[in-house]
Amino acid sequence: MRVILADLKTSECLIVKDTVAGGYGSRFVPFSKVTSIYCYFKQRRLDLPSIQMGYLAAILLGHGHDVAVTHDAIPAGDVALVLSSLVDYRRETEWADEARQRGIRVGFVGLACSKMPELFRDHADFLIMGEPEAAASRLACGERLTGQTTSPPVADLDSLPFPRWELLRGTGRTWGQTQRRRFPVLASRGCTEFCTYCPHRILAGYRSRSVRNVADELEQLCDRYPRPHIVFRDPLFTHDRDRCLSLCDEILSRGLGLSFDCETRLDGLDDDLLVVLRRAGMRAVSFGVETVAPETLRRVGRRPIPEPHQRAVIDACHRLDIMTVGYYVFGFLQDDWSTISATIEYSIALGTTFAQFKVLTPYPGTPMWKQFAPLVFERDWQQFNGYTPTFRHPNVTPEDLRFLLGAAYARFYARPGWLVNYWNLREFLSNALLHRMDRKVLQWHAEKEISVVSRAAEC
Ligand code: SF4
Repeated sequence: MRVILADLKTSECLIVKDTVAGGYGSRFVPFSKVTSIYCYFKQRRLDLPSIQMGYLAAILLGHGHDVAVTHDAIPAGDVALVLSSLVDYRRETEWADEARQRGIRVGFVGLACSKMPELFRDHADFLIMGEPEAAASRLACGERLTGQTTSPPVADLDSLPFPRWELLRGTGRTWGQTQRRRFPVLASRGCTEFCTYCPHRILAGYRSRSVRNVADELEQLCDRYPRPHIVFRDPLFTHDRDRCLSLCDEILSRGLGLSFDCETRLDGLDDDLLVVLRRAGMRAVSFGVETVAPETLRRVGRRPIPEPHQRAVIDACHRLDIMTVGYYVFGFLQDDWSTISATIEYSIALGTTFAQFKVLTPYPGTPMWKQFAPLVFERDWQQFNGYTPTFRHPNVTPEDLRFLLGAAYARFYARPGWLVNYWNLREFLSNALLHRMDRKVLQWHAEKEISVVSRAAEC
């Protein structure tokens, strides 16, 4: 059997799927010079081959099938598995319709088709509901999948074959043409936390792979590709401190010449752990700050992290030459203009290397979705993309939210302090001088904001 794995891409704007927003994906259309530059950096970081497709390729090849990967065209084949998303579902279903007209049986995989089957079922011969590997194994064994096929979560992640990347190479995307190849790796799946807005924890519970199994995969990558860069896509990479230290030990004792990024909570990091992570190859870490207001976080089930700890960890990262990426969300129900402005100021004060600002999105299947359903006004599911207001907010209009989003990117990136952080030049400039330079530029931003909406993004 010849199986097509379709991870559809577009160059129109920045669309990322696979493990972003749990699999619903995000879509960012740059709306200013600053956001265009931001998109360029984000594209470089997140333009990875799909890890779900990597696992499916391994399962199908392991059973002796012929596999073709596509990002656009429809190659010849018997069955196609299409990676579903919310942010690009129209293109995915159009592709499926055309493939079916050519006689190819089409199935969808991923979080979007699992939680929103109504968007996909008229365009497919089958939908794989849940983590796709179990159903893909049945397909590989010759079963004819039909309708909505339940696929239970993989209980033992060590039982999976390692993703096969050779098929996802040379497909026209830039990821394979950089000097150091970048590969996504999942050392665990799901999350142990209970943030009510998060789609990462709604498909299956938390499970982790053994340290040995993860290290074996990393070693295989190092054997096949010179000095690979690994992007751990686990939502909480340092959740188990001892396990994390053991993985670093394995990387070092096996002499693996790799570097890596990961994502975690800041309370899962401390000075000693950071030193070991850096020695093992960590070059960047991402984490959610979300908002400056601890009470707002508690209301959405997120445990706040004390501000001194946040600052201490970020400073330690920069001393160790580890890049930091802070995530922020605007539009919690308690937010208003001044709390969002305060969050923007806080993001600047924390001084991370990068910041990502998004608009709160009530994703289907999350506890927040149930709470927000009566407020949702957006009827186009592709607008549930992380950057578009989708519900009636009690204190902030959609226009204000969009404006504050733009102001956040402008204020964070278009100032001298960001360039100094990015080029790691802090030791050459005094904090007082940098602060003065930033204040001048932020004053300029305020004047521009007042000229547009008669109000500055300041609290
Ligand atoms: S910490 Fe919260 S937001 Fe982050 S992945 Fe876990 S549940 Fe989601």
